[in-house]
Amino acid sequence: MTIQALKGFKDILPDEVRAWQHIEATAREIFHRFGFTEIRVPILEKTELFARSIGEATDIVEKEMYSFADRNGDSITMRPEGTASVLRAFIEHGLQAKLPVQRLYTIGPMFRHERPQKGRLRQFHQMSVEVLGLDHPRLDAELIAMGWLILDELGLSVSLQINSLGCPACRPAYKEALVNFLAARKELICEDCQRRSLTNPLRVLDCKSSHCQEQYVAAPSILDHLCPGCSEHFRQTKESLDLLAIPYAVNPFMVRGLDYYTRTTFELVTDALGAQSAVGAGGRYDGLVEKLGGAKNMPGIGFAMGMERLALLMTQQNEGGCPDSASDLFVAALGEEAAVAVFPLVHFLRRKGLRVAMDLEGKSLKSQMKQADRAKARYALILGEEELARGEAVLRDMTSKEQQAVPLAGAPEGLCAMLVEAIAPKGK
Ligand code: ATP
Ligand code: MG
Repeated sequence: MTIQALKGFKDILPDEVRAWQHIEATAREIFHRFGFTEIRVPILEKTELFARSIGEATDIVEKEMYSFADRNGDSITMRPEGTASVLRAFIEHGLQAKLPVQRLYTIGPMFRHERPQKGRLRQFHQMSVEVLGLDHPRLDAELIAMGWLILDELGLSVSLQINSLGCPACRPAYKEALVNFLAARKELICEDCQRRSLTNPLRVLDCKSSHCQEQYVAAPSILDHLCPGCSEHFRQTKESLDLLAIPYAVNPFMVRGLDYYTRTTFELVTDALGAQSAVGAGGRYDGLVEKLGGAKNMPGIGFAMGMERLALLMTQQNEGGCPDSASDLFVAALGEEAAVAVFPLVHFLRRKGLRVAMDLEGKSLKSQMKQADRAKARYALILGEEELARGEAVLRDMTSKEQQAVPLAGAPEGLCAMLVEAIAPKGK
């Protein structure tokens, strides 16, 4: 019997991988434009790190984490998100001493035991950014604009929703108003929400049940409960987004699935992926560094983009419009002698930076031309017994079908220089 991958765990096949590389390269380049540097953190962490940061009474910690006892009996977890690990590293290595404001990004797999669906996996990949040490609202807008720019450069259109979740000073009053609202509707909401209204009332607003959502349109709005500081911060965030001409909709019921958020939260959403509408999301988490044992008053903000959903959108919206890994040249050698002659030439051309394919077995010309088409080669260099005897090869432009004879005599460097000149894309 064959063995298959685990449910919710997916291979990224060669056909898809190009889109993935393009997404990652585009994002990296933009992260660098905005002054971010990469940090790579482990996939396994102590379970306590996530329980303390994401929150005990969240779906992720309650039922989605891959946690197990290692061989020493310690509880460890495969990271369900990146922020907690990056902040743990930030604190552990005293990064704030090196730069008062750190701009960090990381890219890699995350693990959540969810119900697999289109755009929802158990191992998925995020590109995420964190900025530590600054609470200015212009930063919130700058970060959102960076996410927006990545999607724009990928050719994806999405919309932006923002909200403010307040701070420890103003959220309790909102929670109370919400709890009262829920208590009055106890019979009308699902069991999960009844339970959440006691453990973590804000979470109810995230409920996927349409019955519950019908009730919550009348729920009190957090925006009516913000303290003057949070209210002003949110106003300036919106004003800064306006300055950058980034369009947004305010959604006072967007609460996010992690407990650590404060003030600005946002989601980049699409209507093209069914229920899995968020391609990126994040927000401010001003108390989190302290909660993890780091400095007091160390503000932070971050967001993460889901690579699976971006790749799906890319194929839907752009018909895979990403760069090709086509060959510059296919070298077709006919017969053993010709193959021996071109084998080192191919290696030399690759060392010179050209993308070169060859048939190592010396199959028929017809078969090799088929391979050249499959490799999307722009040129083919054909070397048969006759050509070899004449001391030349035929260079064929695969698009125009024009052919020219190129001399094989002389130093291979001379031939290579000529080929590189003729074939290399401009600017290479
Ligand atoms: P959702 O509401 O879709 O469950 P989330 O609020 O759990 O998303 P975050 O934890 O904020 O998402 O993660 C940020 C991004 O990571 C999401 O916007 C999404 O693109 C992606 N993501 C989250 N969970 C998954 C998953 N199980 N499979 C694929 N992508 C995911
Ligand atoms: Mg989720």
